[in-house]
Amino acid sequence: MTNSGRQSITIIGGGASGVLLAAHLLRHPDPNLRVTLIERQGRFGQGLAYSARHRNHRVNVPALGMSAFADDPEHFWRWLQHKEPGRHASPWTFVPRRLYGAYLEDVLREAGERLPGRLVVLSEEVEALHETPKGVEIALGNGTSLASRWAILAVGHETQPLRGKGIAVRAGSDSDTALDPEAHVMILGSGLSMVDAWVSLSDAGHAGPITVVSRNGLVPRGHRDVAPLDIAADDVPFGASLNDLTAWFRALVTKTESRGGDWRSVVDGLRPYNQRLWQSWPVREKRQFLRHARPWWNIHRHRLPPDLHAGLVKAIEAGQVQLVAAEFVDIERAGKAVRAIIRPRGTKRREIVEVARVYDCGGVTVDVRASANPVIRQLIQSGAARPDAMRIGLDVDENCALIAADGSVSPRVRVVGPLTRGRYFEIEAIPDIRLQCRAVADNIMAGEAAS
Ligand SMILES: Cc1cc2nc3c(=O)[nH]c(=O)nc-3n(C[C@H](O)[C@H](O)[C@H](O)COP(=O)(O)OP(=O)(O)OC[C@H]3O[C@@H](n4cnc5c(N)ncnc54)[C@H](O)[C@@H]3O)c2cc1C
Repeated sequence: MTNSGRQSITIIGGGASGVLLAAHLLRHPDPNLRVTLIERQGRFGQGLAYSARHRNHRVNVPALGMSAFADDPEHFWRWLQHKEPGRHASPWTFVPRRLYGAYLEDVLREAGERLPGRLVVLSEEVEALHETPKGVEIALGNGTSLASRWAILAVGHETQPLRGKGIAVRAGSDSDTALDPEAHVMILGSGLSMVDAWVSLSDAGHAGPITVVSRNGLVPRGHRDVAPLDIAADDVPFGASLNDLTAWFRALVTKTESRGGDWRSVVDGLRPYNQRLWQSWPVREKRQFLRHARPWWNIHRHRLPPDLHAGLVKAIEAGQVQLVAAEFVDIERAGKAVRAIIRPRGTKRREIVEVARVYDCGGVTVDVRASANPVIRQLIQSGAARPDAMRIGLDVDENCALIAADGSVSPRVRVVGPLTRGRYFEIEAIPDIRLQCRAVADNIMAGEAAS
């Protein structure tokens, strides 16, 4: 197969990032542009986040933050009103994630229809990527290959391998069969995936105890409709140590709250500066943050829709959900039950908890060296890519161009989405990914126009 025309661009991964990039590229009027989007799951715009099937597995950003286009913030809200007329009273709504996936599918379809023939979608897995004198060659799982001038990796997240020797199950998987509603269950992990599992249990009428085990015992906080604090760039202590930044942040929260404000406005007010703050730190400080402050930051930054949060707090206060700060050690079968062995935080003591089922909600893998994705493994093994200094993604330059093991910058391969978290850190959510996709699309098209 060939797609090697002058403006041929192949995007690997058709989740949210791949679709947003395709949509931004196809906004360019050039009739010679050819965009090929390759997705192994067969459905586009879904990826890990928006393939959720449960109606109460919802987005954690209100509708006005979820437009595909930063310069048209009401795009998603208009689509939503058209799709579900009268259902949403205001744009401060947190829709089912599957509905957002349907929006992205429509964004892609419309982008392809704008000038027919410019978008090709392929349902295949990409196994390898090689640079050639003319561009790139992309090897597909069906044994064929595709030549293209540019390749952009948008392969996103990978779920962590299942812990617990095949005894723990993933919520919503085929092994997640019907349970006695009074049974005691355990959930490993206390982040957003835990919330999905708790929502599924709760909506299915589960009344038995739910023990939530995680190293820190912290759960995500809830949203409140407050405006971001107006923070001037000059007031932000770029380059300050983690300790000094934390002290500055806490003082700002105290001051804001003393005036009747809310800590959420400080977190949201800081958001435009997060990437710059991250980049102002040396690697040592970034590692400190990842080791000590990240769980705390995540629960304040990635918040829950208020009604879900209120339901979770109620279940915790009623004692149905128990939060345990402990390390998961092992698991074994005990007849029809399961024995989970945990080590409470700060102790050497092992505790055995007998439950009917253990759900593993460990979240996403961030150590890129542990990737099971064939194209990532091939790129790292061949030296065409290298992990960033924190090993939380691939190393890229300021244009998101891939950096090889020898430090050379690829002229033809770019990376978008969470895999660039080593450079940007704040590059997980749609409001950041759409900006990155626009910048990468404009940069590639400007380079093409100049060549
Ligand atoms: C559970 C969850 C909920 C979230 N909720 C929100 C939210 O409400 N709001 C928000 O702004 N952000 C949310 N996020 C953040 C999320 O990171 C982004 O919104 C976005 O979904 C990232 O999309 P992505 O395409 O980069 O990655 P992914 O969703 O992981 O998609 C990558 C795609 O690439 C495909 N792929 C991978 N490797 C290959 C290959 N070798 N060949 C072919 N195809 C391949 C995969 O099949 C997948 O479809 C959530 C994240 C998670 C995990």
